Amino acid sequence: MAEPSSAVGRARLLADAATLLAHDAASAFDPVVPPIYQTSLFTFASYAEMAETFAGERRRPVYSRGDNPTVMAFEARIAALEGAEAARAFSSGMGAISATLLALLQAGDRILAVRHLYSDTFRLFERLLPKLGITADYVDGSDTEAVIAAMPGHRVLYLESPSSMVFALQDVPRLAAAAKALGLITIIDNSWATPLFQQPIRHGADLVLHSASKYLGGHSDTVAGIVAGRAELIDRISQTTFSLLGAKLSPFEAWLLLRGLRSLTLRLPRHEASGLLIAERLRAHRSVTAVHHPAFSEHAGKATLHGHTGLFSFEFAPHVNVPRFIDALRLVRIGVSWGGHESLVVPALASLRQTPQYNALARFGVSPHLIRLHVGLEDPEHLWQDIAEAIGVAEQK
Ligand SMILES: *Cc1c(COP(=O)(O)O)cnc(C)c1O
Repeated sequence: MAEPSSAVGRARLLADAATLLAHDAASAFDPVVPPIYQTSLFTFASYAEMAETFAGERRRPVYSRGDNPTVMAFEARIAALEGAEAARAFSSGMGAISATLLALLQAGDRILAVRHLYSDTFRLFERLLPKLGITADYVDGSDTEAVIAAMPGHRVLYLESPSSMVFALQDVPRLAAAAKALGLITIIDNSWATPLFQQPIRHGADLVLHSASKYLGGHSDTVAGIVAGRAELIDRISQTTFSLLGAKLSPFEAWLLLRGLRSLTLRLPRHEASGLLIAERLRAHRSVTAVHHPAFSEHAGKATLHGHTGLFSFEFAPHVNVPRFIDALRLVRIGVSWGGHESLVVPALASLRQTPQYNALARFGVSPHLIRLHVGLEDPEHLWQDIAEAIGVAEQK
């Protein structure tokens, strides 16, 4: 059940990524790790160099709100891992998501989005984009025929496979092909799988988004985002929302991300194995009624996943007191985000209280008994002991 869709494909992906992530382009003095270009601007040797650069006849860094070499190294890494022509990095995942949509859409355009999308993406669609005349409709992304039937009249198809909170899958190749035939741009948030375990561009997606704050950085010390895809689309984003709204990534954070990426091929299989161990045990537990983990799904969307990461959710039976469970955890910490070294928990019960009028969990019917768990790099038996004991404390007889 936990078997990846193609063991050979997975082994090659891991091997290629491991070598790619270990080596950098040359810099002055041949450092093994590229420097942090902590500079706001880059000077020109001559009038001619400046004029040619401004005229677009040559590309070289000018000002760090645009190109910065450390940031460009991170962008090149992600583009290579995703099989994309180009990538552009941002100061957060939301910076990348909002800049991408604002660059591609105009008043009157409609987005077709899957249900259970990331909560702040939902807030962007509900709270901010309508002010600009851009609206979103939501469909059950797992129902391929229903998504295709809903496509006409929309400009963008927005996917998250697996989705947030309930980890529902979508058939990316079929949806992207249908979208292309109908003239929609397919955008997918690939933060969960990372390019190690899913490469949506190879399956027809036009643009891939990441919150690099999660597994790409991997150490809970950076907030960052990136969009990768066709050069023509990335250029449009670069020349408009990227440069004009200014949500650029800092050189130091790009350097942290490059550092984090070096261990991606080691970290993810560990998150995967520990996550599966705990998911299996939760599934067998008398007080757990459901475990939402892509490994347990039968959906066609599994075909593009070459592995699983450590984020999933489960639902308690009503006799388990959620606040008491949370407070009884000692190793698993209480906090948002995921993808770092540490295990974290978010109870839907608390998230349902956030901005009620723009709440994706409430809108799409997430159970108050649901717990989202990120399984970190700790010993999985220690983690399981912590979780099992906390459930024991929280079970009301
Ligand atoms: C965290 C997250 C985002 C937003 O990224 P930030 O870096 O926090 O802005 C987007 N999509 C998903 C699926 C996320 O989990």
